[in-house]
Amino acid sequence: MIIRSLTVRNFRNIASADFIFDPKVNIFTGNNAQGKTNLCEAISVCLGKSFRNPKISELLPFGNENDETYIEICFTFDEFPDKDNTISYVQKKNSFRLKFNGIEFKEAEKLYGALRYVIFIPEDLYIVKGDPEKRRNYIDFVSNMINRVHNSKLYEYNKALRQKNNILMNMNEYNSTNKMMLESWNDTIARLGVNVMCGRIKYFDMLASFANEYYGMINRSNEILSMNYDSTVMGDKGFTADDFEIMYETYLRRLRETADRELRMKYTVVGAHRDDVSFRINNMPAKDFASQGQIRSIAVALKLAEAKMILDKSNDVPIIILDDVLSELDEFRRSFIINHIDNFQIFITSCNFSDTDKFGHGKIWNVENGRFEIRES
Ligand code: ATP
Ligand code: MG
Repeated sequence: MIIRSLTVRNFRNIASADFIFDPKVNIFTGNNAQGKTNLCEAISVCLGKSFRNPKISELLPFGNENDETYIEICFTFDEFPDKDNTISYVQKKNSFRLKFNGIEFKEAEKLYGALRYVIFIPEDLYIVKGDPEKRRNYIDFVSNMINRVHNSKLYEYNKALRQKNNILMNMNEYNSTNKMMLESWNDTIARLGVNVMCGRIKYFDMLASFANEYYGMINRSNEILSMNYDSTVMGDKGFTADDFEIMYETYLRRLRETADRELRMKYTVVGAHRDDVSFRINNMPAKDFASQGQIRSIAVALKLAEAKMILDKSNDVPIIILDDVLSELDEFRRSFIINHIDNFQIFITSCNFSDTDKFGHGKIWNVENGRFEIRES
C-alpha cells in the first residue's frame, strides 16, 4: 500500500496537521518531545491498532479531552494504484468509530494485519539484547503474521502449560495418581508444544536469510548475521518443521528426563515456552559482543526482513515506519536507511537535523510542539 495523505486533528499534542506524502521516503525531524512518535502512532491507529497499546482516553489532547479526535488516511493498494481508499478514525471521549471507505468497521483490530505495516521502535533493540521472552514474542509475532493460526496454537499451549504448572505448584506428594495426571498433561503439552515450535521454525530460515541480506547492506561489510532457533527440547539436533514425530518423541522424553527438576522447581522446565533465538555476528553471540550500532543494525535488518517476508508471502507491500532508528548509527548506515530502502514507502523520524543532509529525494517535515512544517527543497 501507499499512503497518499494524512489528516490529524486533536490527537495527543497534534492539534492540526495535514500531509501529502511522498510515495517513497518521508522524514520527520525535530527535537525530543515535539510529536514525531505521536504522528507515527496516528498512522498506526488508522491502520487498526496503536503500537503503543494505550488506553484510548490517553489519545485525547491533555486539557482538551472533550475535543473530537479525527484522523484520516487516504491510500492506494498496489494492484489498484488509481483507486483511492480512505480510513477515518473519529474519537469522542472514550468511544471511537473507524470507517473504511465510508463504511463503519466494527472490529477495528481486524484491520490490523489486513493493511500491512512494519514498525521499528527503540524498544525493538530488546529483541536482540533483552530477555528470551522478547525474542519468543517476536518470533511468535512474525509466525502469526504469515500464518494466522499460530497465535491460537500458542494460546492452547500456554493454557495447557498453566494447568500443568498449577498441579506442580499445588502438589504436596508425588504419588501414582499425581504421576498419571502429570503424564497425561505431558502428552498434551508435547503435542501442542511441537505445533508451536513448527509454526515458529517454518519461516525462520527465510527470516534469517533476509535479515542477513539486509544486515550486509546496512553495514556495507562482510559481516555475517546468523540466527538460530535454540530449542530446549531438541538441543543441538538439527530439525525442520517436517520432523513432527521425532520432535514429539523427543519432547516427551525431555519432559520425562526433567520430571525431578520440575517437581523441585514447581514448573515445567523445558519446552517451547523456554526456547530462545540467538543472533550471532561472524559467529560471535551478538547479545554479549555486539556494539550499540551493530545491535541497532540487527534490529533494523530484522524489520526490513519482516517487510520482505510480507511481500514474498502475501504480495502486499507493507509500509515501513522507523521511529528514532538513526541514532547511534554511523553516516553510512544512516545514509543507507534514508536513501536505499527501495520497494517500500517509509516514514522515518529523527532528532538530528543533519541526518537529512545527504537525503536525495522524498519529503522532509520539521516538527515543533505538535506543528509540522514541510521543508522546501
Ligand atoms: P522523542 O524524540 O523524544 O522521541 P517525540 O517527538 O517522538 O520525541 P512524542 O512521543 O511524539 O515525542 O511526544 C510529544 C509530546 O506529546 C510529549 O511531550 C508528550 O508528553 C506529549 N503528549 C503525549 N500524550 C499527549 C496527550 N494525550 N496530549 C497532549 N500531549 C501529549
Ligand atoms: Mg519519539
